[in-house]
Amino acid sequence: MDDTEEQTTGCLTTPTQGPRKTRFRGRQVAVYRFVYCVLNREVIGGDMVVRHRCNNRRCINPAHLTIGTRADNKRDDWDFAVNGVDYGLL
Ligand SMILES: [Zn+2]
Repeated sequence: MDDTEEQTTGCLTTPTQGPRKTRFRGRQVAVYRFVYCVLNREVIGGDMVVRHRCNNRRCINPAHLTIGTRADNKRDDWDFAVNGVDYGLL
């Protein structure tokens, strides 16, 4: 993960088009999800998702990751779409 770039928003993004994937126990998982699970020693159930508070799906900064339900995640998308929240400016 040395090729991540730090953005002015504090996001650590990977130089990939979408969320970077990694292999873990023979499964493909999104890196941000993996980072969250490892750091928080939490196993995320099927209906829980790791959300990006910065709304940047390539970001793997643990400080920007939070756990929620799929419904929360959708609401984040709506919030972002409606308000155009830039968390870097708050
Ligand atoms: Zn971020």
